[in-house]
Amino acid sequence: MKYILVTGGVISGVGKGVIASSFGTILKCSNIHVTSIKIDPYINIDAGTFSPYEHGEVYVLDDGGEVDLDLGNYERFLDITLHRDNNITTGKIYQHVISKERRGDFLGKTVQVVPHITDAIQEWVEKVANQPVTEDGTKPQVCIVELGGTIGDIEGMPFVEAFRQFQFRVKKENFVCAHVSMVPQPRTTGEPKTKPTQASVRELRGLGLSPDLIVCRSENPIGQAVKDKISNFCHVAPEQVLCIHDLPSIYRVPILMQSQGILEFFNDRLQLNIPMPPPRKFMYKWKDLAERADTLCKDVTIALVGKYTKLEDSYASVTKALQHAALAAGLRLKIKYIEAANLEDVTRSADPVSYHEAWQQFCKSDGVIVPGGFGKRGVDGKIEACKWCRETKKPFLGICLGLQTAVIEFSRNVLNLTGANTTEIDPDAEHAIVIDMPEYNPGMMGSTMRLGKRTTVFAYDNSVLKQLYGNKERIEERHRHRYEVNPKYVPQLEVAGMKFVGRDEENIRMEILELDDHPYFVATQYHPEYLSRPLKPSPPFFGLILASVGKLHSYLARGCRLTPRQLSDVESDDEIPETVMKDNIVISNEMLTEGKSKSVGSSS
Ligand code: GLN
Repeated sequence: MKYILVTGGVISGVGKGVIASSFGTILKCSNIHVTSIKIDPYINIDAGTFSPYEHGEVYVLDDGGEVDLDLGNYERFLDITLHRDNNITTGKIYQHVISKERRGDFLGKTVQVVPHITDAIQEWVEKVANQPVTEDGTKPQVCIVELGGTIGDIEGMPFVEAFRQFQFRVKKENFVCAHVSMVPQPRTTGEPKTKPTQASVRELRGLGLSPDLIVCRSENPIGQAVKDKISNFCHVAPEQVLCIHDLPSIYRVPILMQSQGILEFFNDRLQLNIPMPPPRKFMYKWKDLAERADTLCKDVTIALVGKYTKLEDSYASVTKALQHAALAAGLRLKIKYIEAANLEDVTRSADPVSYHEAWQQFCKSDGVIVPGGFGKRGVDGKIEACKWCRETKKPFLGICLGLQTAVIEFSRNVLNLTGANTTEIDPDAEHAIVIDMPEYNPGMMGSTMRLGKRTTVFAYDNSVLKQLYGNKERIEERHRHRYEVNPKYVPQLEVAGMKFVGRDEENIRMEILELDDHPYFVATQYHPEYLSRPLKPSPPFFGLILASVGKLHSYLARGCRLTPRQLSDVESDDEIPETVMKDNIVISNEMLTEGKSKSVGSSS
């Protein structure tokens, strides 16, 4: 097993996670099996209790682990499936060591940070690094370990010490330390400043770790002279300095790194035996993606009606999933973050400006997404959003709480059940449309959330989502919720036109809803955003984007087989005769090649 430790210097938030994931991407493109570990030196056991305001979204894994959102970057970039143990926190390590102490495993010895905590860290890293992260169960060859925070933080010290020892434990040819630093370019002089980098490298060395790579983040490109200066002052060879300036899209990062010889460096230093030079088509998928991302000219505007809209990271995976979908449709994504509470009637009298501004932004968008959330605040605004989308036939995607608000709105305004609500907000609701259905967890106390990967079975053949998912009978997606649609009301809702087209295997839990007579009114109890990948957009998101530009039915009519380029040329749904649309929801490929589909356009 080879390890790449990624540390940060100077300040946090310079994109250490993207740098670390990009290392993985390059190695993965060379057929190396890569895994990753994110270390968060805070005391919390996991991210489950975090406020999205403070840390951004809580990312959910297949196994139900609630982890730091950086793990999402690794899963998306490397297309792997991580486990909860791939996220290490100080809390987890201490909990582990303390429970050993309680069991008497230390035989009466004094339990200390060095060696007990540092040993526990090393053992944890070694164990997790060897766990397969792909479906075929292959053992990874390289593990990228990202140490959160910056070098010098008190909290990070035991981890730095653990890796100081670890480099000798696993031997030199199996361990690389990459230090991500920042090179500021103050406007006054315009000259890049290397002093902060020098200081942080010195600090790292003082703690016993020598960087094998220094990755300099900067706003603008850094010239050779500055690179040489860093190499000189930080005591590394020039090829050990990588300069990554701000780029138009993150897809460019691995490409820029590769142009600076990073693969050759890893190959040599970690003895990876990758045949050199890399093939001509090396990383072409990423190059194509980056090229497409930079040359989009048509826009699609999506309103995101949420509660934590002040911090965009609160909806990191939703935003990424929208980006993947827009890119696959050849469109440039514009997201309008709308504070749900501003759509509420109470805001109209209290703060008319915010109210009207929010509605203006909202109405101008091409499509709407109501993401997940917890608690009372903003729920009424989300219900308003659902109502407006239903009535005006605006493309709509509701996720988790977004599904629940759509059902409440429909019950109140179509079924006339005025007292309809979720018991999360009103435990004594007259019509408890959304109720607490705790999952039965034998032997588990307190865990009442339904978390992680679960199966959804399609109940209707003509479902739009079923087609978007490639006509599979069943799919698996990740969950994070406590409440769900009350099965008692399902027959009534369905008769009135709200179809629950996807359900769990027991046919008790409603997973997907679709509205009859609406271009795209879809909601899922699961969170499709967690499994979206740059080259594999999530179907519900892709449907929303296509419907927002009026191309969903053209796409479905062609059996969901159009490339981004074909999509941009295809005619819009209004141009397809109504009858053809109904009869040809799925036209087979053979029909297309035989030219029988002339009536639905000829540009396929
Ligand atoms: N609060 C709702 C529930 O617990 C929705 C959760 C969510 O949107 N993630 O069911």
